[in-house]
Amino acid sequence: MVDARPEVRPAPRLRVIFLGPPGAGKGTQAARLAAWGKVPRISTGDMLREAIAAATALGKQIAPLMEKGALVPDQLLIGVVQERLMRDDCKKGYILDGFPRTLRQAEGFETMVGGDLTEEMLVFDVEVPRPELLRRLSGRRWCPACQSTYHVDNNPPKKDMLCDREGAQVIQREDDKEVAVARRLAEYDERTAPLIDYYRNRSRFYRIDGYRPPDAVFQELTSIAGGRAS
Ligand code: AMP
Repeated sequence: MVDARPEVRPAPRLRVIFLGPPGAGKGTQAARLAAWGKVPRISTGDMLREAIAAATALGKQIAPLMEKGALVPDQLLIGVVQERLMRDDCKKGYILDGFPRTLRQAEGFETMVGGDLTEEMLVFDVEVPRPELLRRLSGRRWCPACQSTYHVDNNPPKKDMLCDREGAQVIQREDDKEVAVARRLAEYDERTAPLIDYYRNRSRFYRIDGYRPPDAVFQELTSIAGGRAS
C-alpha cells in the first residue's frame, strides 16, 4: 500500500541547538539534519580544529586546552559564532552543534539573536547512558583531513583504517583519549548540563533518546522539525 502520510518537510526556517554530552551522536545527527533542512551545520568543535590545523593565532591559543578536554573561553566562542551567523547561508536557518556549552554562551547567543528568536529555537537534548558514551568515545577514530568520524567496531572505514573519502589514515583524536574524555564529561556535567533547565522553558525543548540506531533518532528529529510530533 502507498504510504499516505505527507512527506515530512523541514520548517521554513530551521534553527536548532543540540545539547547532550560528548559521544551522544550530536555531530552525526546535526550533519544529517542540516542536509535534510538545507541549512548549514555550525560545529564549533570543527571550526576550532580547523583553526588548529591552519595554525592561526586562535589555533595556537586553544590547542593545549582542547587536547586536554577543557572548554575554550566563552568570549572567544561567542565571537566566532557571531561572525559565522552573519554569513548569508544562515538566513534560512542553521544547526548549532556544540554551542552554546555554558550559561554565559547561552546568554551571549540570546543577545546575538534576540530573546524572541530563542523561544522559536528547537533544542534537542540527546541523552545516552554513561557506559555507552565511554564505549563510543574510546572507539572513535577521526580523519584529520576531512573530519569524518568512524568507530572501530560500529562504523570502521571500508579499508585498512583509511578514510573512505580522503584515503588518509584515521586516528584517535587527542581529546578522545581516556584522561581527556573524563575531563570533557566533567565539563559537560558542570557547565553544559545546566543548560537543560535554562532551555526547557525558553525554547521548543525536546529530550531525545540517543541510545538507539542513528536512523531511529534521525526519524524522530525530522518528525519534530517537520512539525508532525507533539
Ligand atoms: P566537540 O567536537 O564539539 O566535542 O568539541 C571539541 C572541543 O572543542 C571541546 O572539548 C572544547 O575544547 C572545544 N569546544 C567546542 N565547542 C566549544 C564551546 N561552545 N565552548 C567551549 N569550548 C568548545
